[in-house]
Amino acid sequence: MTSGLEFRVTPATPVPAAERAKLIENPGFGKLFTDHMVTIEWSEGKGWHNAEVRARAPFSLDPAAAVLHYAQEIFEGMKAYRGRGGEVTMFRPEENARRFNESADRMAMPRIPEALFVEAVEKLVAADRDWIPDGEGSLYLRPFMFADEVFLGVKPAAHYIFCVIASPVGPYFKGGGKPVTIWVSDNFTRAAPGGTGAAKCGGNYAGSLVAQAEATRQGCDQVVFLDAAERRWVEELGGMNVFFVMDDGSIITPPLGTILPGITRASLIELARGDGLKVEEKPYSFDEWKADAESGRLREVFACGTAAVVAGIGTVRYRGGEFTIGDGTTTGPVTQKLREALVGIQRGESNDERGWIH
Ligand code: PMP
Repeated sequence: MTSGLEFRVTPATPVPAAERAKLIENPGFGKLFTDHMVTIEWSEGKGWHNAEVRARAPFSLDPAAAVLHYAQEIFEGMKAYRGRGGEVTMFRPEENARRFNESADRMAMPRIPEALFVEAVEKLVAADRDWIPDGEGSLYLRPFMFADEVFLGVKPAAHYIFCVIASPVGPYFKGGGKPVTIWVSDNFTRAAPGGTGAAKCGGNYAGSLVAQAEATRQGCDQVVFLDAAERRWVEELGGMNVFFVMDDGSIITPPLGTILPGITRASLIELARGDGLKVEEKPYSFDEWKADAESGRLREVFACGTAAVVAGIGTVRYRGGEFTIGDGTTTGPVTQKLREALVGIQRGESNDERGWIH
């Protein structure tokens, strides 16, 4: 399906092939970018127009551009993979389009037709497909939108830019798939009922940075947030959702509301249920977490998201102590099985019976 909007294509002068091949051998995460970007403008009255595939380049922004003052900005994160046969695929891009529009609604920004969102991403992947690393790497895609109307005043802007950029990436966590250590933030929260927690807006991440910095100071890979009202219920990590696997094989994950509705989360719930596992979306407290880890009732904990896919959590550190899940160093069998099932589908190596591959 196409959106009906014409894209003007102005090819960039590409990075020479030999140099590109060297760069994507060891891409890191989010530091390396491809040759092109896609931009589309929106203005009141005119709607979406001026769609372009062009050389990746800086924007010129007026100092009074609305985003710089009132933070109307939303984004998405998704990946393109190169399969063994060379075919290039994306995982459920329509879900990113849908979530993007939900974020847009929350931030009083214009919706973009889902077909246009997906077409924009496809156009960039097609232009920069040679940047997709082989093997375990992938091309991380970052669609985003921001308000660039020039004014001071608290109101929704009347002009926006939608853009897609791409970054070749390797594994998100260094450590070769070993379980990660997380810090429970007791002083900072991420989202409150009625707030913006379910939207993927830049401001949510700005607010999480001091908590993540504290996690790093405490020797942890990531921060986990508790709810804002009671500081009791586990919500999610800085950039990932969280799952708990109990000794009877059942799985608990925090309910939607103030957390980001992860596409990995939704996919894993479906895969686990398809495997006959019981998955409950229900509140789970930090006290239960600690008690269940200590009693052995809790067997595995894992985090999930587009960037890291599925990562076991081995050690949980909080002000005043720490505990481990199992021995803290091995990734449990349920975590491993779900990870393999998802990665198999994403990389086109297993049967895509749900039609998730694009
Ligand atoms: N929570 C937060 C706060 C995130 O930033 C992300 C990454 N988008 C996720 C969860 C996981 O979402 P997804 O599985 O769609 O990548």
